[in-house]
Amino acid sequence: MITGSSFSGQALSGIISATETAYLHKKTKTMANQTIKVTGIVIKETKTKENDKIITVLTKELGVIGIYVKGAMRLKNKFHSATGLFTYSEFVLFESRSSELYQLNEATVKHIFHRLSTNVEYLALAMYMSELVCEVTVPDDMNNEILRLFLNMLHMLTTQKWSVSLCKAAFEMRLLSDTGYRPNLVGCKRCGKYETDMFFFDNENGEIICGQCAKSYDKGYYIAEMPTIMALRYLAYADLEKMFTFNITGAFRYQLCRICEKYLLEHTRYDYKTLDFYKSVHIEEKLF
Ligand SMILES: [Zn+2]
Repeated sequence: MITGSSFSGQALSGIISATETAYLHKKTKTMANQTIKVTGIVIKETKTKENDKIITVLTKELGVIGIYVKGAMRLKNKFHSATGLFTYSEFVLFESRSSELYQLNEATVKHIFHRLSTNVEYLALAMYMSELVCEVTVPDDMNNEILRLFLNMLHMLTTQKWSVSLCKAAFEMRLLSDTGYRPNLVGCKRCGKYETDMFFFDNENGEIICGQCAKSYDKGYYIAEMPTIMALRYLAYADLEKMFTFNITGAFRYQLCRICEKYLLEHTRYDYKTLDFYKSVHIEEKLF
């Protein structure tokens, strides 16, 4: 199991636009003109003038922040590795009064996810996860949890412990659950039943309804048989350490993946360029 204090990938940028880069950290940037140390993973890099770049980093301490890296694009730059896309590093930053961005003083690599750069599907999913992290509002006390989720997901992905589609579904559902959209999966919303053969997932309200209570096949309801419901409960409720201990295959995985994506799109927004890219390179796993 990977913890929040232990974790990189190689560079590839362009799918995520440069414009909305790294200014999501304003709310946490309160003190100025001092040096601080943070650990986090680079989730976006944007080339600026000449050889400089801005990196967006998901950190344990401050959530998503933007860091200006001078001379980073030069191969001989001492920060080249530690500031690469999907590299997990420790950063020493200078917080300036005059800029929304932190300035980089020191950077040390903690972990590189080597396999990420060898598989375009893995890379596409990591970029989608990055866009999602920038989209949602993470409560300050959940920053470490979200970083751990991100790192663990890259671990599950690159070690092939879970299929690519299951990693994607798990990230979508857990991220929503941890940022205020945890669905109510305890029992049927009408009769309270905890277990039965067939449930439907009410996408709009994040609730489940059993086959007996669902009067018709309502719009926005998605089939979730019992193994699918069990998997959803893991993703929404289990401690992170235990969340990765189940597996699901075949039609149940298909149901789970559909629900997680629909729920995410319903409660955030519908247009993710990185999701389009993921779908253009994703190879659908066989159902049986
Ligand atoms: Zn019911």
